[in-house]
Amino acid sequence: MRSISIFGATGSIGESTFDLIRRAGGAEAFRTVALTGARNVRRLAEMARELRAEVAVVAHEEELPALREALAGSGVEAAAGAAAIAEAADRPADWVMSAIVGAAGLVPGMRALRHGATLALANKESLVTAGELLLTTARDHGATILPVDSEHSAVFQALTGEDAGAVERVIITASGGPFRDWPLERLAKATVAEAKAHPNWSMGSRISIDSASMFNKALELIETREYFGFAPDVIEVLVHPQSIVHALVGFRDGGIMAHLGPADMRHAIGFALHWPERGHVPVERLDLAKLGMLQFEAPDDVRFPALRLAREVMAQRGLTGAAFNAAKEIALDHFMEGRIGFLDMAAVVEDTLAVLSSGNSLGKAVSDLEEVLAVDHLARVRAAEQAVKRAKGR
Ligand code: NDP
Repeated sequence: MRSISIFGATGSIGESTFDLIRRAGGAEAFRTVALTGARNVRRLAEMARELRAEVAVVAHEEELPALREALAGSGVEAAAGAAAIAEAADRPADWVMSAIVGAAGLVPGMRALRHGATLALANKESLVTAGELLLTTARDHGATILPVDSEHSAVFQALTGEDAGAVERVIITASGGPFRDWPLERLAKATVAEAKAHPNWSMGSRISIDSASMFNKALELIETREYFGFAPDVIEVLVHPQSIVHALVGFRDGGIMAHLGPADMRHAIGFALHWPERGHVPVERLDLAKLGMLQFEAPDDVRFPALRLAREVMAQRGLTGAAFNAAKEIALDHFMEGRIGFLDMAAVVEDTLAVLSSGNSLGKAVSDLEEVLAVDHLARVRAAEQAVKRAKGR
């Protein structure tokens, strides 16, 4: 029986994964090792009971009594805290979903790889923050990383059976989010509620706002560079409002392989769950005649400076990705709490990178995880300072 763990089980990707596991036979077909959440004790306990998990872990320690109570009599162990989440990743499982949001997903993912797991990686922040380290860890421990981001799953699928040396270009698409047509003056006043309202995808709040600011696409550009190893100038972004074509790979003979699918993450999760086979995945089947038309347009780096910043990170690599992601997470916190404006987020990230680059060599090769976590911490401190400055200037 295949063993599985889901980190970030209570989130949007976690719920979709749970749905697929349940449809594929649930506790009768899989041995569930660990399920984790941050605060949503009720849902985590429900899932753990249904899948008869070995352990359920919440990130916030104050939730432990509530989790214990919710699991009473179930035989599922309860634990809490970041260290307990990392320890849960030390319990070997064949297939591990990494779907915690933010850099908090890095350590458990890394620990699962050290046990030789197949890591279904939704947590793009891991690759942005410590891509090279993650891939080396996987290689050294005979583990496998399968991309779950829809664009990267699409590139992975388009490349299957192809010669990577014949690739001329890799194009990841972006819906453009809710602000695709908004002029700069209007973007400056965009609210959190407006930014959360993604036109096509139903996702967690943080990634939805990152989609509106194109920081999500910026992370994905870096993720493409890190995971597939293509040079930055090979990787392009194309705005495609319908979110049907997820990525395209162009080869040196002029042919392009495109991957199409509905805007439902269960496709990419299902692909990773059944890989290397193709299993049945219950997503809507596309009716292209009904769709009639697919639109494409060039992205606008001026209204969405996150894309320009991502290019700088892709060129420098090293610890720059860790600094970029951490600064982005802090800028996002400040925007969600109403302290800075929508456009201030990119300014905070840019200023933080400038402050950290002077005197530090962020582009140097990464030696270990501790170094990455130290830069992540420092970037959070500096980004908070920049955000306070921006808030005062409003
Ligand atoms: P959600 O916000 O919906 O869920 C996040 C999950 O992580 C929840 O289980 C949450 O617990 C948990 N969590 C939050 N903070 C912490 C923390 N500090 N430590 C441990 N656990 C934590 O996010 P999504 O499911 O939307 O996204 C998850 C990841 O997948 C992100 O990296 C995102 O970029 C990526 N992704 C998401 C896509 C989507 O369609 N949603 C598409 C492609 C990639 P709780 O619920 O208890 O708060």
